[in-house]
Amino acid sequence: MRIAKDHIVSFDYTLTDESGAVLDASRGAPLAYLHGGRNIIPGLEKALEGLAAGDEKKVAVPPAEGYGEFDERLIMNVPAERMGGNTVQVGMRFHAETNAGLRVLTVKEVKPDEIVLDGNHELAGKTLHFAVKVVEVRPATPTELAHGHPHQESSGCCGGGCSSGEAQSQAEEGCCGGGGGGGCGCATGETKSASDEGCCGGQGKATSEDGSCGQGSCGCSQ
Ligand SMILES: [Zn+2]
Repeated sequence: MRIAKDHIVSFDYTLTDESGAVLDASRGAPLAYLHGGRNIIPGLEKALEGLAAGDEKKVAVPPAEGYGEFDERLIMNVPAERMGGNTVQVGMRFHAETNAGLRVLTVKEVKPDEIVLDGNHELAGKTLHFAVKVVEVRPATPTELAHGHPHQESSGCCGGGCSSGEAQSQAEEGCCGGGGGGGCGCATGETKSASDEGCCGGQGKATSEDGSCGQGSCGCSQ
């Protein structure tokens, strides 16, 4: 079976930058996504089209087809008192509504009376070098098409694991939002839906703290 629209694809990947430094990797836990569902960056989705299980490919994705160009306008200086008295440290990330929509903001600099925030994705402006290996290709189920993301066949939802930093439950449901908050560890502040399957963020709100998707089944948006 070849990768085409409305198929669920699992693949292993290693992501490196121009210098060959590893930025991210699936590390034996393949990433699953809905092809054509905008679950992953456009340049990578395009490169995977037509491949089959077992196929390997290297692809360089330019910023425009990755996480966008670096935008100076997303660097913001915020008066310290706006942080509500919370302790702020360089490198901290949080979600905030900005002129450009919901963004993950990274604290760049802490001055006595001012905080410098960066709303760019950490991979913005970078050409991304992916080495991918397709693990599985299968048609999406009607529910997956309706949700716009893959479900883990055995556990319903989120069984594929969440991004690092997110708590992952070993609940029997294996599902986010199931069983009273012990679910799949959606990032703080995210909506857990009360959908019949107990998925988190059925409408694609489950972006993890670092702005990247979980391992597929957790309803991430890019
Ligand atoms: Zn779902």
